[in-house]
Amino acid sequence: MKRLDDQQPQIDRIREAGLRATASRVAILDHLQEDRRHPTAEMVYESLRTTHPSLSLSTVYSTLESFIDRGLLRRVHTPEGRLRVDGTLQDHDHAVCRHCGAIYDVARSGLRPQEAPMLPEGVALVAVNIEYEVLCSECQEHTAVGVGGSGRPGETNHPGDPGISKES
Ligand SMILES: [Zn+2]
Ligand SMILES: [Zn+2]
Repeated sequence: MKRLDDQQPQIDRIREAGLRATASRVAILDHLQEDRRHPTAEMVYESLRTTHPSLSLSTVYSTLESFIDRGLLRRVHTPEGRLRVDGTLQDHDHAVCRHCGAIYDVARSGLRPQEAPMLPEGVALVAVNIEYEVLCSECQEHTAVGVGGSGRPGETNHPGDPGISKES
């Protein structure tokens, strides 16, 4: 019994964020309260296209970007660099399957760096997120690769990494 009233919290949040609560914005934000996959824009679009035939993929993209800008959604960083979004704003960490990219929510433990790392001058630390690299149960079945391998060679790229100077 999904009634329009059920979307009122999303309508309020969109308005509080300073946006007009258009039908597509409300539908997208409402969908992301339930879609726990940390979906890409394409996945959101696929989920909504039957119920919202007028919605276009580019509208989904721009809506997700503006929601992220205004703090209604969290951007999820993925190794492949695609936009994925998280409707859960409470602090939590992610476990990412290194093989298929599935993202799982992980409750925060007390484990957290106590001090800000060596950040470039002038930048302000806003959040510390821990990402656990995992192999999901499905991928463990489908790959002969055991847990604890050395990982994909040369695939860790950290844009903006100040670069730790190697010992010469
Ligand atoms: Zn997997
Ligand atoms: Zn999450």
